[in-house]
Amino acid sequence: MLKEIGIGGVLGIIAGLLLLGLNIYPLLFLLILVLLVFKMMDLKGGLKKFNPVKGGNSSKKGLICFQDIGGQKVAKRELQEALDFLKDPGMIKAMGIRPLKGILLVGPPGTGKTLLARAAATYTNSEFIPAAGSEFIEMYAGVGAQRVRQLFMQARALAKNNKKKSAIIFIDEIEILGVKRGSHNSHLEYDQTLNQLLVEMDGLSLDDEVAILVIGATNRHDLLDKALLRPGRFDRIVQVELPDREGRLQILKIHARNKPLAADVDLEKIAIETFGFSGAQLESLTNEAAILAFREKARQLGTKHLKEAIDKVMMGEKLDRKPDKEECLRIAIHETGHAVVSEYIRPSSISTITIVPRGKALGYIRQIPEKDSYLYTKEHLEGQIAVLLGGAISEEVVLGSRSTGATMDFEQAVELARKIITSGLSSIGVVSPRDLPDGALHEYIKEIISSQEEKVRSLIRNYLPAIQNIAYHLLEKERISGNCLRELLGKEKKNAV
Ligand code: ATP
Repeated sequence: MLKEIGIGGVLGIIAGLLLLGLNIYPLLFLLILVLLVFKMMDLKGGLKKFNPVKGGNSSKKGLICFQDIGGQKVAKRELQEALDFLKDPGMIKAMGIRPLKGILLVGPPGTGKTLLARAAATYTNSEFIPAAGSEFIEMYAGVGAQRVRQLFMQARALAKNNKKKSAIIFIDEIEILGVKRGSHNSHLEYDQTLNQLLVEMDGLSLDDEVAILVIGATNRHDLLDKALLRPGRFDRIVQVELPDREGRLQILKIHARNKPLAADVDLEKIAIETFGFSGAQLESLTNEAAILAFREKARQLGTKHLKEAIDKVMMGEKLDRKPDKEECLRIAIHETGHAVVSEYIRPSSISTITIVPRGKALGYIRQIPEKDSYLYTKEHLEGQIAVLLGGAISEEVVLGSRSTGATMDFEQAVELARKIITSGLSSIGVVSPRDLPDGALHEYIKEIISSQEEKVRSLIRNYLPAIQNIAYHLLEKERISGNCLRELLGKEKKNAV
């Protein structure tokens, strides 16, 4: 605020001097000089201003316990085990165990690494000091190292002030500060910062008045300097994975605790439909569902709000841009094609079809995953290719031509075909794609896709009246549920008999 008033004032003075016809150049020169001096002071003072200790256990966010974290059974167990040395240092000493100085949490974004570190601080009654790797890196050599020293000093001081025996320093995105030495352009600053962290960690001892544990979090474990992972530094690595179905259910329950759920809501079904979601996405889902219910002035969150929130988290916000009627019909035919093939390959696999544009998609289908799968058979991959081709082939059969709307589908279909070949599941057996003659990989991919194209074309022809009917229904409603689709498909089958 003061800065804005200052800038306004200076501009006012300059305007005034100009109006009076006075020479403003000496004043401008003086101003630039003053600004330069301030900038220099700011750079030096940057060290003093650096204050990573914004959190602390007494922060407004409140205490986080391991019970507040859904899923992550293995990560919690591994972490808790490692923390016992902070809870019972006497025992660790008596057993001659080398104290743990650092724990590295490795996993995709939003899986709860920060939550785990906060819970670790609560569990051990330690002061919690959060910082991010990026806060340590400046263009100027020495600044980062100084900040690392300050961080450890502040951790000790804060713990002492709050009468705690231990402190947990949490460094998020540690790969920024712990990147392999010599691998960065301005490596002098990076190397000095990392060296300082190593020095600080080496200096930690069980006899210290305040025991310090450093918890680092990263999703790029591969970028870290080996020295950081050496025993005696970050020698406990805890994997924090995307939650499985049970984990997703627990996370949904945690975030639905403070929300009024309608009686029809089955969180288990929502957990099934959210394969691949991180904890942060599940939190966002429950929040978006509450916003949707609020917008509708509903008193409770219903299944429809949660399902729409899944679409929003997956695909992005609804777009205002609306295609014209002809394009909408084409989109409806395209999406119906995908859906009918999906239902044919795996009955009851469709959760929703919609032609409401969201994110980059003009329309989309959402499938219900059969189960949390981490391995796929050839039949499964071929089925997925068929579903992806269903959109374009439906356009071709019903409207006589295809459109650019299938570009992404084809990209994914080609990727799946490539996977069939590289996993040794294709007719050419186990091969190294690099050793195949020029153009051969392309030919094999084409072969897999063409064979699926043939099957899908004949399937779409068989279901032509059903596809037309469902597409018109979709055009009218804009969004239909999997159950509604199955009902319409069932009716069409009966009519055909
Ligand atoms: P990043 O790598 O992006 O820093 P992160 O792994 O540290 O992410 P958090 O910051 O811990 O993730 O999680 C973000 C938010 O997501 C949390 O505040 C919480 O609302 C929710 N969340 C993530 N994982 C879980 C979980 N396992 N249980 C409950 N909530 C979770």
